[in-house]
Amino acid sequence: MRYEEPVFRPPSEAYSLIIQATIGCSWNKCTFCGMYKMKKFRVRDLEEVKEDFRIAKKLYHNVDRVFLADGNALVADTDYLLEIANYANSLFKLERISCYANPTDLLEKSKDELIKLRKAGIKLLYVGIESGDDEILRKIRKGVSSEEIYEACQKAHECGFELSVTVLTGIGGRERMKENALNTAKLLNRIQPKYTGVLTYIPVPNTALYVKIKRGEFELPNAIENLLELRMLIENLEAKTIFRCNHASNYLPIKGNMPEDKVKLLKAIEYALAHPELLKPEWLRGL
Ligand code: SF4
Repeated sequence: MRYEEPVFRPPSEAYSLIIQATIGCSWNKCTFCGMYKMKKFRVRDLEEVKEDFRIAKKLYHNVDRVFLADGNALVADTDYLLEIANYANSLFKLERISCYANPTDLLEKSKDELIKLRKAGIKLLYVGIESGDDEILRKIRKGVSSEEIYEACQKAHECGFELSVTVLTGIGGRERMKENALNTAKLLNRIQPKYTGVLTYIPVPNTALYVKIKRGEFELPNAIENLLELRMLIENLEAKTIFRCNHASNYLPIKGNMPEDKVKLLKAIEYALAHPELLKPEWLRGL
């Protein structure tokens, strides 16, 4: 397959056919994110994308999932995405099509457009929420408030999409650990996403937040503080969600179905707090 590297995909799309519908992220301003800094955003030519699908058809016989990269493919025009989805469905018997979506992409499309996309087979949207705390969202330049994130996710649900959301412990620094935990839990409780992924913030060189850390303007919580933040988030989480905190960035890999596994997850955290030697060392953590 031909790709404009680097290409990112959620861990759960490891066995999906990855096709780049867009290149880069149309926002590309979050202070902690370096994923697409080297790419100038653009929507790919439709014929090129179709050609990629034809190449894939020759290479792979059993494609049942397609992930549309890059950063926020949902930002592309609805007609363009419908063409892509219909073309993919004409070549493969697909169980689902998924992509990353920014909250603003959902807010800017009409319900009618979103329902058409859902009917065309785009079933799962990955939304980076990062935090439910408005002060943190403002500082990391997410470009949306917690209320706008809620409205976007609510709209997606009303149009039939499943949501997989990502939040970050440590993204508020030492200063806003409590606010990050409490307000993120509060937002997740309102959204009730099917999947919740918790990552732990790791500074990425050449990003604005990295520079702040180097200047001493942002204090990074240590491993124990991150666990305390995670514990507070879980204690306050009431959403029914498949909870995953087993990313390479996390100090303690835990997962479960909420709310039924809440006690189990909290016990795992208590144990780790009492045995910090079990936590993932810094050199093993990654994004
Ligand atoms: S975090 Fe997401 S929205 Fe923000 S710059 Fe990175 S890819 Fe774009």
